[in-house]
Amino acid sequence: EQQKWGALKDKQTVSADGRRFEVGANVGTFADVIDAQEDGAEGIGLLRTEFLYMSKDELPTEDQQFNAYKRFVSAMNEQRVVARTLDIGGDKKLGMVALPHEDNPYLGFRAIRIGLARPEILRPQLRALLRASVYGRLAIMFPMIATIEEFQAARAILDEEKEKLEHAGIQVAKNIEVGMMLEIPAVAVMAEHFAKYVDFFSIGSNDLIQYLFAVDRGNQQVAYLYQELHPAVLRMIRQVIEAAHAEGKWVGMCGEMANNAYAVPLLMAMGLDEFSMSSSQILRVRSLINQLNTRKLQPLVHRAIHAETAAEVRKLVEEYVPQVK
Ligand code: PEP
Ligand code: MG
Repeated sequence: EQQKWGALKDKQTVSADGRRFEVGANVGTFADVIDAQEDGAEGIGLLRTEFLYMSKDELPTEDQQFNAYKRFVSAMNEQRVVARTLDIGGDKKLGMVALPHEDNPYLGFRAIRIGLARPEILRPQLRALLRASVYGRLAIMFPMIATIEEFQAARAILDEEKEKLEHAGIQVAKNIEVGMMLEIPAVAVMAEHFAKYVDFFSIGSNDLIQYLFAVDRGNQQVAYLYQELHPAVLRMIRQVIEAAHAEGKWVGMCGEMANNAYAVPLLMAMGLDEFSMSSSQILRVRSLINQLNTRKLQPLVHRAIHAETAAEVRKLVEEYVPQVK
């Protein structure tokens, strides 16, 4: 099997009916980039920038960040690198950023909420990313956006920093795509409005499902409620993809659901454009996409959306895509 997959590495990911998909890697260190290339990634769909801040006593400087981002972006050549701005809070803590004690950290001060409240953290990161943008194909996304105002505020800071750099004679790439993680159900409900402002959405299914079912994503006791195949999740994702496509924007997914063999047929048939996952999963998913016909899967999508339970969806997928079993 590994050998058969190896042959896919240098080809594009195309479904049996000729639809092109992108399968990228989630990376958190530079070593992950090497793996991503060996494992057939077509880009980096999620660059977790937290590694620059972990186990350090001070915030990384703009130059330290610039050098790191430049290394990632250059290594990927013309392939896209989607960098996510600092996503701390929730379960991720940092020594050098003192966060208040919270009873519900997943519902509290995290991700872009920290970025907007502490521009002295967000601004140098954005400047470093902008400076690195000329070395390859960089896209930038903001984590945990909840409202249009938050996206606009983050975007305004990015535009300001860009202008300042250009004013100082420092080069910045012309067409940097600016998007957001879609991880909060309210955003999915409002996707048609967000779609006017973003260049892309990347669905963070880990958090989206956590917030949709009110189930802590790390709590084993309630894990039975964490259901990637639930029709509520599928409806939400379908709505997001349709809203984005109506505005000509693309949609990716960088949560664990993107490499769930039962979810992939549904996601590709619903029109998800990009899948991003840990490298070891990439060729398996690319091989599955190659075998499937999105047109023939439309009745599956229809039936899954109208199913009552995740168990029902699972059975339906097995019926239409017997090889997932
Ligand atoms: C997600 O929420 O699905 C995601 C990719 O982000 P993280 O797992 O880092 O919260
Ligand atoms: Mg998340």
